Amino acid sequence: MKELYSLSAHELQKMIAVGEVDPATLLDAIFDRIGSLDKKVRAFALADKTKANDRLKRASEKKLGRLYGIPILVKDNICVKDEATTCASKILAGFRPTYDATVIRKLEDEGAVLIGKANMDEFAFGSSCETSCYGPTRNPWDLERIPGGSSGGSVAAVAADETIAALGSDTGGSIRQPASLCGVVGLKPTYGRVSRYGLIAFASSLDQIGPITKDVRDAALILNVIAGYDEMDSTSVDVPVPDYTKSLTNDVKGLRIGVPKEYFIKGLDKDIENSVKKAIDVFKKLGAKVSEVSLPHTEYAVSTYYIIAPAEASSNLARFDGVGYGFRAKESADLIDMYLKTRSEGFGDEAKRRILLGTYCLSSGYYDAYYLKALKVRTKIKEDFDKAFKDCDCIVTPTSPTAAFKIGERMDDPLSMYLSDVYTIPANMAGIPAISVPCGFTANGLPIGLQILAKAFDEGAIFRAAYAFEQNTDFHLRKPKL
Ligand code: GLN
Repeated sequence: MKELYSLSAHELQKMIAVGEVDPATLLDAIFDRIGSLDKKVRAFALADKTKANDRLKRASEKKLGRLYGIPILVKDNICVKDEATTCASKILAGFRPTYDATVIRKLEDEGAVLIGKANMDEFAFGSSCETSCYGPTRNPWDLERIPGGSSGGSVAAVAADETIAALGSDTGGSIRQPASLCGVVGLKPTYGRVSRYGLIAFASSLDQIGPITKDVRDAALILNVIAGYDEMDSTSVDVPVPDYTKSLTNDVKGLRIGVPKEYFIKGLDKDIENSVKKAIDVFKKLGAKVSEVSLPHTEYAVSTYYIIAPAEASSNLARFDGVGYGFRAKESADLIDMYLKTRSEGFGDEAKRRILLGTYCLSSGYYDAYYLKALKVRTKIKEDFDKAFKDCDCIVTPTSPTAAFKIGERMDDPLSMYLSDVYTIPANMAGIPAISVPCGFTANGLPIGLQILAKAFDEGAIFRAAYAFEQNTDFHLRKPKL
């Protein structure tokens, strides 16, 4: 008999429905697991068993929803009413939102049980989960390595079976890149598919919330629950939510898969290239039609992103000034001095770097040269995808150019850190959905992820391809030895 904590949400859901598993026993198993492992992994910013038990009690009083009794961890940039929500930043110390994010409300309406807040890079700036004010999260496959970021806590907890599933946010790869580095499934939905209401904004034109799960079916189940129009988010799009589990057919015959030639470049690790090529062969064997496509503006994606994302971040972070939220510096001469000291003491180095970069790009004189130009290139990147999707239904690529690196390895070299997201950033630029699924291991046993992208609002095509791949491989079944 497998341990309860090691099961997927869909397996548990069936067992709970027929009375084979008691959600309270499941919750105990999860908190025992957290108790024994999180000293090592450090995936949690907050884990509160008493509150989780109260939440389960409330869930049990209602009609039993689609996720009844399933423990879920949420990234610490998603507002939960009356719970510390800090974005892993000192500047939000003591902040307790007065409302729930829409995704929280939707999960709880379906009976899911929130177990805590996940560690992350400060304000979701990073690819390694090292910029957190709580210290780094560790990769369950090798505790000396980073789990990826910025949703590193959410992802490490899923990989270590410290939660059944989690939510992350993805602005340039923060769900997919860590999912790839920890060997789990991570989906960034189409921009506008999932409400951002209650997600503390990083770059509002790029951010999306998405599921991080043990398998593809769980990602479909959770997307079914969290997707949909929300009048509280002006960028939420009012298109019907299909039942994504209907796309889990294990049939890709005739599915047209594009492979972009620009993604197999210098800097791509050999083991990763080989695994992705083998994955493409799996699709061919299953009857998909694979052909080469071109995304010629790919090489500009990272530089464009590092103008647009910090520009938006510098504006979004202006509100943290010691007045409305969280931390305020102790002694200051006057109001301006208070702002200065609060922001100097409250933000970490990477947050400051982003604010400086963004403010510079938006300042008069530089706006046209940098920001406006970046917006134009962004349109070009989107047009590349529009064109490619005329000839294919999905595009497959590596998720990350390298496997998990050592803690500290890239902290003094922001450029090499920023390059962690070369393959994930374009999807955010274009607003299209993309998933990362496990597709292999490096020679030293570190997980490798395959990215699958589709047209806006065609998550169904992604699920169809990802599920078929998963059902015909066993990478998602392997677990780290902890
Ligand atoms: N690593 C990227 C960055 O630091 C993406 C982060 C994210 O998706 N939140 O901006």
